[in-house]
Amino acid sequence: MGNRICFKFNSDNIQEGLEGSLKMSNGGTSVFINVLCLSGGRFAETESQKRFMVFLAEKNQYFCGIGTVDFDIVEMPWDKASFDDDKAFMLRVIDGAKQKIGWESLRYRPNEEFVNEYLETFKKLIERMTVDDIIEENLIEWLSEADENDPVKCGFPKCKIHDAYISVHGCQVCTD
Ligand SMILES: [Zn+2]
Repeated sequence: MGNRICFKFNSDNIQEGLEGSLKMSNGGTSVFINVLCLSGGRFAETESQKRFMVFLAEKNQYFCGIGTVDFDIVEMPWDKASFDDDKAFMLRVIDGAKQKIGWESLRYRPNEEFVNEYLETFKKLIERMTVDDIIEENLIEWLSEADENDPVKCGFPKCKIHDAYISVHGCQVCTD
């Protein structure tokens, strides 16, 4: 049980894809996504940056099922046109989460030791991403799956309580 975030799992070498991957407990995953949503909600400015936050908010175990929100870094909504900015943005979001940005809006106190370990590993995975790793169909497909009520198609609404971008499942922090 638990969830795993990896880098290029579907490449020829599965072992390589799992190398340095982030394995989290189910509860730990929720906290991890919570703190990223809080930080990113305050940093995202461009459409592509907001898309990253919606992608993360979709990793909602309450709706998707406990232990079913594995993902691969290359599946994130990377866009060649804004790759450098988006990567820098994601690293800023991770740093913001480490600085506990938005944590005052949580009804619980995350275990900092666990969260920092998760964030540190996630950061290393994001750092490995290069523009050459982008699979352009991923973004096209992800967007095509969104109907007209999806936050990515209707102005990226935010949760008023958590200042986090919401997904079709609502606010990931509220539903945790
Ligand atoms: Zn919320």
